[in-house]
Amino acid sequence: HTRKLIAGNWKMHGTLAALSELEAIVAATHDDVDVAICPPFTLIAPAAALAGAVRIGAQDCSPQPQGAHTGDISAAMLVEAGATLCIVGHSERRADHGETDAVVRAKAEAALDAGMQPIVCVGETLEQRDAGQAVEVVEGQLDGSLPEAFERCVVAYEPVWAIGTGRTPSADDVAAMHAAIRAKVGPDVRILYGGSVKPSNAAELLHVANVDGALVGGASLTARDFVPIIRSA
Ligand code: 13P
Repeated sequence: HTRKLIAGNWKMHGTLAALSELEAIVAATHDDVDVAICPPFTLIAPAAALAGAVRIGAQDCSPQPQGAHTGDISAAMLVEAGATLCIVGHSERRADHGETDAVVRAKAEAALDAGMQPIVCVGETLEQRDAGQAVEVVEGQLDGSLPEAFERCVVAYEPVWAIGTGRTPSADDVAAMHAAIRAKVGPDVRILYGGSVKPSNAAELLHVANVDGALVGGASLTARDFVPIIRSA
């Protein structure tokens, strides 16, 4: 994929005051790279109103179209608010909310049905990597989590042990994993790397073969950190 996608996942950070960071990110976006921000649900509509060329995404959606599901948000509601992307299967949701591969797949199908592009997240734990199982774990997650129309998705490889820790896999390990994912999804699906991406390591990670962009957590919260990452792409 020639155009990279740099996506920010704000997780549970950001009130209206954070939109000033988004404004600065919008101002720094250029034509050679796709940029997205996934803020909390409450900021999707006001973010979409000032996002310009920056795509706005959600961090999750319900697998159900509507109904008696207190606290859940449907994909159609997110589209109406201005989301064009939706992260599904982030490791924090798999861990905190017990989301299985089957649930993640159902969410990806719901996002696609509503017209959003899913960013399907996969990644091994440190225990699984140390046991030499990283590639087979991720292949299994892809088999279970990708929707039928997988070619319309983005895949994000986020090793759980690299999220929020400052640790990253070596370029060789990223290359090996992304090659394994590429073999499953074909040439046209963008494969993002996520986990402790920051200005100082972005260029190296983004230039690994089969890395088509990044999914950035902490370093997407401020323009000061996120804009240099965009410029590294
Ligand atoms: P950090 O960039 O904060 O490690 O988070 C990565 C992530 O989980 C993005 O979805």
